[in-house]
Amino acid sequence: MIRKAFKLRIYPDSDQQDKLAVQFGCSRFVYNHYRAVREGYYQDTGTGLNYNDCATDLTERLKVDHPWLKDADSQVIQQALMDLDKAYKNFFEGRADYPRFKRKHGKQSVRYPQRFKVEGEQVYLPKVGWVKAVFHRKMEGLMKNATVSKTKTGKYFVAIQCEVEHVQPEQKQAKVGIDLGLTTFATFSTGEKIDNPRNLKVSERRLKIRQRRLSRKVKGSNSRGKARFAVAAIHEKIANQRKDFHHKLSRTIVDTFGVIAFESLNIAGMMKNHNLAKAIADAGWNQFVNFVEYKAGWDGREVLRVDRFFPSSKLCSDCGAKHKALTLNIRQWVCTECGVIHDRDENAAINILKETTRGARESYAVGDTSQLVKPSAPEKFQQLSLLEAQEL
Ligand SMILES: [Zn+2]
Repeated sequence: MIRKAFKLRIYPDSDQQDKLAVQFGCSRFVYNHYRAVREGYYQDTGTGLNYNDCATDLTERLKVDHPWLKDADSQVIQQALMDLDKAYKNFFEGRADYPRFKRKHGKQSVRYPQRFKVEGEQVYLPKVGWVKAVFHRKMEGLMKNATVSKTKTGKYFVAIQCEVEHVQPEQKQAKVGIDLGLTTFATFSTGEKIDNPRNLKVSERRLKIRQRRLSRKVKGSNSRGKARFAVAAIHEKIANQRKDFHHKLSRTIVDTFGVIAFESLNIAGMMKNHNLAKAIADAGWNQFVNFVEYKAGWDGREVLRVDRFFPSSKLCSDCGAKHKALTLNIRQWVCTECGVIHDRDENAAINILKETTRGARESYAVGDTSQLVKPSAPEKFQQLSLLEAQEL
């Protein structure tokens, strides 16, 4: 059994929009409240609070003090507490940054673990009612939970997670090493290069123009509001186009190869380098690797990673000679030891594959991303981000 998400757009009427706003607001309030409580408690006592502590406090105290919380679905509120707990776990296990407060003006979302229904062209949400929905593909499997979200531009969606039976495809023998980069999105050890798709590049150019326009508008003016909306709309579009690209590419890779090797990305560490932060965030490598991993998990493929300190772009993949780091603008180079001409990214991809299949490798269990970013000594982090910044 695997879990698949079906996303549909919903069209709540104005009364339902108000009720959804209550769900979003209460869930955000509870999340932020216990985010502050957990932090304060830790500072005072040196020990942490867990989900159960917060859940007890929620029913015995918070709901009594704030009776308006009853307007929200109780499971939605409990889910907010669970999400907070997960955010802390991800932080402590080195997978994510410290949990941030949820903002009123950001994207809003709540999750219903139960009691929602789907019938015909409608979705039933507790405390909200039957909401009109548009289905693009037929849903299948057993419904597990539903996440309702509202984008910054005011569109509403429901993502329903379903458990479906999955027939494992035939095993593939082919292996591939993949080098992820900024100039070319992905280079395979087979020599194939995958660039960001054209529509995505067009949107990114459009975003720059819109952002420039926004920055020229007078604060608080009507036209500034409109310009901000336009920027948010194009951000949404870019995120969708990128997701679509990542889904398609990861599907092709998993369909073609039985063993897929990546370099370990230290996204959290790299983000601290501000010059590169935007470019890396844009490239969305983390999302992409994530998609490859879970699809590989469904289809019984193996995903491997080389050690974070493995110098994939410095080694000659032919003779193994180690060279000095190359600057970013050098796309081709000649090995001074054996004379072979290398494409920079392809050489790195071949090295990644060689290294992982040599035995020195980390294998990933399905869905286990705990090794994605391993916590390490702060100075190591620093060193690495500098090193990687130069290599990129
Ligand atoms: Zn060589």
